Amino acid sequence: MKKLFILTVTALLIVCSFSACKGNARQDVKKNNIIIKEESSVESSPSIDTNTYSDVSSTTECKDVFKDEEVEEELEEVKEELEEVEKEKDEATVELVGVNKLRPDYDLGTCKDLSGNVTVVIFYLNDFESSWTSEKINKFTEREVKPGLRFLENSALKFGINLSIKIEEIHSDIYYEDEVETNIKESGYATINALDAAAKSLGYSSDQDFINSYKKKYSTEVICYCVFNKEGNSYALNPKRGTDIDIEEHVLLFAYDIGSTGLEPVGCQSSVVAHETLHLYGAEDYYNPEERKTLAKEYYPNDIMLSCKYFLSLNDFGDITAFYVGWIDDVPNLLFEETW
Ligand SMILES: [Zn+2]
Repeated sequence: MKKLFILTVTALLIVCSFSACKGNARQDVKKNNIIIKEESSVESSPSIDTNTYSDVSSTTECKDVFKDEEVEEELEEVKEELEEVEKEKDEATVELVGVNKLRPDYDLGTCKDLSGNVTVVIFYLNDFESSWTSEKINKFTEREVKPGLRFLENSALKFGINLSIKIEEIHSDIYYEDEVETNIKESGYATINALDAAAKSLGYSSDQDFINSYKKKYSTEVICYCVFNKEGNSYALNPKRGTDIDIEEHVLLFAYDIGSTGLEPVGCQSSVVAHETLHLYGAEDYYNPEERKTLAKEYYPNDIMLSCKYFLSLNDFGDITAFYVGWIDDVPNLLFEETW
C-alpha cells in the first residue's frame, strides 16, 4: 500500500504537542487525497443502480415504484455527499471578513463548533511494532482521554459555553499496515490515512464517508482520535485555508512522548488530548514563531496552547484560545500586536 505522508502546514495544519513544522505539501499526497474522494463518490452510486434494476425486471409493478423511490433516495444521498465535498472546498478558499481574519482556521472542515453536544470516537490501532490490550485501552481512555475532554468542558464553562463531549464508541483490533510517522518535527511528514484505514475496517468507503455517517447517526459533530500504543509526538490533522487539499479532521495520538522514560505521571497525555483537539477547532500554537512565543510567555504563560504541561491542572485557557475556537468574538488586544 502506498504511504500517505504529507509535509506539514501548507496543505494541513499539523501540530505536535510541543513543536510545529512548516513546509509544502508533496504533490503525490495531493493526488492521493483526490483519489480517495473520487473513489468514495464513484463507489456509492453504480452498485445501487445495478442491484436495483436487476431486481426491478423480476418484480411486480408495485415493487418497481418502491425500488424507484429507493434509487432516488440513494441518488439524493450521493448528491448530498458531493455537495458537501464542494462546500468544504469553497470554505477553504472563501475570503475571511471581520474578526475571522484573525482566526483563519476557525470554522473550517468538519470540526466547526466546540459547543453543545459533541461525539467522540476513538480508534486504538495496532501496527507492526505496537499493539493494545483491553486493559491498556481502558487505562488510556480513563486516565488520558477523559480528563482532557473534561478540561475542555470546564474551560468552556468559564467563557459561558455549554459543552458536553461524550465518548460514544471505542474501536480496537484495527491493524494499520503502513509505517506511522511519529516525529513530524524531525521528518516534516505526517501520517494522514490512519482514520481512513480505521473507517474502512468498519466497512465505510472512506474517512469522509465515516464522519458523514456518524454526524447523522449522533446528530452532533464528531471528533475522531486514532491512537497508537507507542512513542510519538501527537498531532492534529485539519484542513488549511487557501489550499485545495481537504482531509477529514482527526487527531493522531501516541501513548507516550518521544524519549519517554516511562516515569511520566499518569495522565500526562491528557493535556495533549486537549491541546490537539483545540487545533481541530481553530486554535493555534503559541510557541511558534519565536516572537509570538515571547509574548505568550509573558501574557499567557500557562495556556494549554503554549506549553501543554504534563499535569493538566497546571494548564489554563486564555482568551486568545477562546477567541480562536469561537467561544468569544471580542478580539483580545494581543492579537493586534505585529509580533503575535
Ligand atoms: Zn499544537
